[in-house]
Amino acid sequence: MSRYFTAELERLEPYTPGEQPQDQQYIKLNTNESPYPPAPGVIQVVAAASEALRLYPDPENGRLAKAAALYHGVEPDNILCGNGSDENLMLAIRAFCGAGRGLAFADVTYGFYPVWCDLFGIPQKVLPLKEDFTLDPADYYGLDEKEKVGAIVIANPNAPTGLTLPADALAGIARRNPGAVVIVDEAYVDFGGESCVRFVREGTPENLLVVQTFSKSRSMAGARLGLCIGPKALIDDLKRIKYSMNPYNVDRMTEAAGIAALADRAYFDKNCAAIRDTRAKTTDTLRKMGFTVLDSSTNFVFAKTPKMPGGELYKALKQRGVLVRHFATPRLQDWVRITIGSPEQMQGFFAALREILA
Ligand SMILES: *Cc1c(COP(=O)(O)O)cnc(C)c1O
Repeated sequence: MSRYFTAELERLEPYTPGEQPQDQQYIKLNTNESPYPPAPGVIQVVAAASEALRLYPDPENGRLAKAAALYHGVEPDNILCGNGSDENLMLAIRAFCGAGRGLAFADVTYGFYPVWCDLFGIPQKVLPLKEDFTLDPADYYGLDEKEKVGAIVIANPNAPTGLTLPADALAGIARRNPGAVVIVDEAYVDFGGESCVRFVREGTPENLLVVQTFSKSRSMAGARLGLCIGPKALIDDLKRIKYSMNPYNVDRMTEAAGIAALADRAYFDKNCAAIRDTRAKTTDTLRKMGFTVLDSSTNFVFAKTPKMPGGELYKALKQRGVLVRHFATPRLQDWVRITIGSPEQMQGFFAALREILA
């Protein structure tokens, strides 16, 4: 920190992204990226769009909003395109929370939620998951009045556990918090969760917002593209913040890539099915090796072994060229989160693992 850095944010603890090493060729199973390339059409349209780079993009990303609306069965004004779902989550938290209106979320979930609270001076209401990492919806009822929260954010399926809730449970939480917005972070929904987009289609509850990303199931983590899907009134609130920060948040190449990715339904379905298949085999093999593995609805598995703590396993794998994610917090220190890679990558992972545990 320089001496000019604002004293208000002296204690800000920034989010720590998973390692992105540029030096060595790792089997990279640490940040939930796809092992497969983007849809074939994506590359072509990005090259074509780059010719128009001298012009600003459409700040409304109207073409992409229209394609996404058709895809999800909603209207274009139910869609906001963002620079990754990180940006859409930030806009939502900034729009609906403030000094006197907190944000509620689980103790074990996406690590960025508390960082935005600190950045914006928003009080946090942290709700512990149960012993087995499941979430009891009843813990979230009435938080609008009891805890004066402006929003509740729930990753569904959750990270890093991989566990999922039925969509009705989230709608129930929204109905029992009419004074707050429920933000459902669906980063992993395409790998087996149940989406809440249908509530936007049906027009109720009016306080539920869905956030999705192209980073995982559409192999576009490097493009930074996310969609927020919600009632027009809430999308307009987010646009108010967006136009106060960065109106051109999704560039021309990314917008074109997003449209091409949505157009190739068959390629998307094939890749999601491949990940689910590899996930089932990975879970099975880990359990046979004595690991405890949570039932995952995502493109990663959360696992632990009685043979060594998570931090040690992480280090031993890294020495053998395999990156996984370890979280050094009291509830998570025994565990590692392993992204589902290609079958070949998982073979490399298991070869390293057998060597370590032998
Ligand atoms: C990966 C992830 C994000 C961020 O996605 P981007 O679109 O890449 O910004 C948000 N929430 C959860 C739960 C994630 O796992």
